[in-house]
Amino acid sequence: MESSAVSDRAPGPVLLSRSEIQKRVFEMGREITRDYEGRAPHLIGVLKGASVFHADLVRAIELEASFDFIAVGSYGLTTRTSGEVRLLKDLDESPEGRDVIIVEDIVDTGLTLDYLVQCLRMREPASLRTAALLDKPSRRQREVPIDYLGFEIDDRFVVGYGLDYGQHYRNLPDIHLLGN
Ligand code: 5GP
Repeated sequence: MESSAVSDRAPGPVLLSRSEIQKRVFEMGREITRDYEGRAPHLIGVLKGASVFHADLVRAIELEASFDFIAVGSYGLTTRTSGEVRLLKDLDESPEGRDVIIVEDIVDTGLTLDYLVQCLRMREPASLRTAALLDKPSRRQREVPIDYLGFEIDDRFVVGYGLDYGQHYRNLPDIHLLGN
């Protein structure tokens, strides 16, 4: 879907501040560092939403880590999923034999992460785990494991810290509810 230069909706109140996010992402990095001791995790970021989270998470991991990116179809200008997941950009490198962690911004219905887990599993990684900054469990349609989770939130549409509304607001440092 086309996006316009100026958004028709403004960001609303802050739901998660930059300092809360920073603290939690740092803790997630520590958990991964502990769990993957002696290994080199390969962190696959899901574009574009997870790009900011991915950048912060990889720097919170005190191990030799590598990364790649994959892109899937997004919401465009609406705030509800179409129920269809499309691969827009594939990985640059094969994940075969690697300790893969899929890094996602938010798990809503679970369709996207479920699709990615199935897609990645077929490519025979040595291990496969998932990390998500946000989880909206009330909207789940597919049960999909989240091994490292930042925050559980209510069913509200959020923007900022990589998350967009029609490609707007990804650069906001805090996570906001979408306003009017
Ligand atoms: P799912 O397939 O789990 O329904 O949706 C996952 C994708 O939907 C996320 O990667 C994200 O791009 C988008 N999404 C779900 N909820 C929100 C939200 O509250 N805000 C934004 N900006 N995107 C969302």
